[in-house]
Amino acid sequence: MNGNSVSHPAAPAENNFLPGPVLLLGAPGVGKGTQAQILVAKFGIPQISTGDLLREHRRNKTELGLLADDLMRQGKLVPDDLVNQIVAARLRGPDTGRGYILDGFPRTLGQAEWLDSHLAETGSSAPLIAIEIQVDEPQLLRRITGRRTCPKCNRIYNIYFSPPRRDELCDEDATPLVQRGDDTEEAFHKRMEEYRAKTLPVIPHYRSAGRFRTVNGDAPVETVAASVLCALKDLRRVPSDCKASETGVR
Ligand SMILES: [Zn+2]
Repeated sequence: MNGNSVSHPAAPAENNFLPGPVLLLGAPGVGKGTQAQILVAKFGIPQISTGDLLREHRRNKTELGLLADDLMRQGKLVPDDLVNQIVAARLRGPDTGRGYILDGFPRTLGQAEWLDSHLAETGSSAPLIAIEIQVDEPQLLRRITGRRTCPKCNRIYNIYFSPPRRDELCDEDATPLVQRGDDTEEAFHKRMEEYRAKTLPVIPHYRSAGRFRTVNGDAPVETVAASVLCALKDLRRVPSDCKASETGVR
């Protein structure tokens, strides 16, 4: 998922502009992971997830990883400064020159401000831009609480949008469908709250700097991908034939 040690193919010529550093935001269930993968494939840039990086450092027992281990053993949060250092180390990677997609960072205003000055100091090709994929909460709730899986063939259904033909039985093998434990309404609200707490603080920072767009995520995957691309081009001042309605809300 993070594309950390994966080599990426060269970007095709028609996407020959630098996407630069992109922060992709979205509540659970909006399809952020899918859109991130589309950008990774389109531009040949890595996706950088701080959660994955932290796990990697701890697994490899690096200096930073051991430090994080120590703090977590004491039940403490990993402080901004340590997360920033881990991100800085990753951004020195040779695959980040054309840009990258950040996932899970920055989550605080302090991290956002640190990243801005870090990018300026290290001569980044462009400042970070933030694109949020938005889906109305009732719709998101149906996406998540309606999800059912066949335990036999793993086919995925949604009782609201793509229900099985009969009751809650798999179309292929008539096995009763099951709901994942964390696809409940209660779990959804908890994850939404967490998303708001971790994301809302950074949005005004990017919005006031003219580096933020919200795109509609309540559409087919390809349509959302087109909107994300339009918002990205517009934020990077790349000429395009996108309509104003496609470049997202500032
Ligand atoms: Zn099945």
